[in-house]
Amino acid sequence: MRQFLTTGPKFIEKCFLCKQSFQLGPLRYDGRHIVSWSISICRSCDAASWDGVVPDSHPDLIEHLKQRGVRIQLNGKGWLPLPPLGR
Ligand SMILES: [Zn+2]
Repeated sequence: MRQFLTTGPKFIEKCFLCKQSFQLGPLRYDGRHIVSWSISICRSCDAASWDGVVPDSHPDLIEHLKQRGVRIQLNGKGWLPLPPLGR
């Protein structure tokens, strides 16, 4: 019997927020890709930013979004909410 999925390339992404590398499949997903922002973030940043990213802490993210014409809409705390899963 042939064995599949035991070896092969791993997809390593770099978290836009903390700049750490993490695995984004196959089999193991330590973060997610935010399609509408064209960035990847690791699971710990995703968890830490569940109620939004503090814009002052991540000026490069604001710049990145502005360059792509993404509308920046801050929440009541003045933080930038992450798009929901799958967006
Ligand atoms: Zn991160």
